[in-house]
Amino acid sequence: MRISVRRRSAALIALTMSVIGVACGVRAGGPPKVSNLGYSDTPILPGGKWHVHDGNRPQPPIVTPPVGNQSAPDAAPSDAVVLFDGKDLSHWRTGDGAPISWKLVDGVMEVVKGAGDITSREEFGDCQLHLEFMTPAVVHGDGQGRGNSGLFFHGIYEIQILDNYNNPTYPDGTVGAVYAQTPPMVNPSRKPGTWQTYDIVWNAPRFDGDKLVKPAYVTVIHNGIVTQNHTELIGNTPHRQVGTYKPHPPKGPIKLQDHGDPLRFRNIWVREIKPVE
Ligand code: MG
Repeated sequence: MRISVRRRSAALIALTMSVIGVACGVRAGGPPKVSNLGYSDTPILPGGKWHVHDGNRPQPPIVTPPVGNQSAPDAAPSDAVVLFDGKDLSHWRTGDGAPISWKLVDGVMEVVKGAGDITSREEFGDCQLHLEFMTPAVVHGDGQGRGNSGLFFHGIYEIQILDNYNNPTYPDGTVGAVYAQTPPMVNPSRKPGTWQTYDIVWNAPRFDGDKLVKPAYVTVIHNGIVTQNHTELIGNTPHRQVGTYKPHPPKGPIKLQDHGDPLRFRNIWVREIKPVE
């Protein structure tokens, strides 16, 4: 009798464990399902079938990028507005306009947790931007909790910066994503603790009074690999929401995010894009 109860208990425990395993997406002999990476209680993105931050959206395929220039960055082009060349933080302000308190160490700028986002003093419309970033060599956390920052055009349209080296997350939050909208086509991440490059062509949205007359478009080259190809933005890039457009001036600042992780930046410059006459 006792043995029979034990057997039933053991069977019940095994069944419970198996149900828990399935619920958590764990499969014997396989990787965890990605559905637990994102959200399914968020709105559906316009014109598609995916929720904002949908964990079931296909993961961007991994591409091994070239090693890149790890020692010292190339000089900025002669007509660029240099936002950071390793010498000082004078081109950046806090949201209140005060000098920033991120660290300047050995010619690189480092996020200081709690110091807040930083905003460029110069403002830009259509532009070409170059930026180099390094996610922390000492890896902490996973998903969105690993090496998270972000690059915002006009202070509101985010191109994600994240350590996605062996670190899947919801695809529209992957490095190179138009956050909460469009995952990168591929994931050419380098290892944590190495320099990575962004070369981005930004086409600012156009407004006529309160009306949007042309959406924003972005092309992103990450570590020499195209990850966004003239991608149309559906609006700004809020967490768990579908972005919307609200009219703003033709030019706006570049913003870099303090998401609590000590990312490093170097060699940030912007060229205004002007049509030929
Ligand atoms: Mg971010």
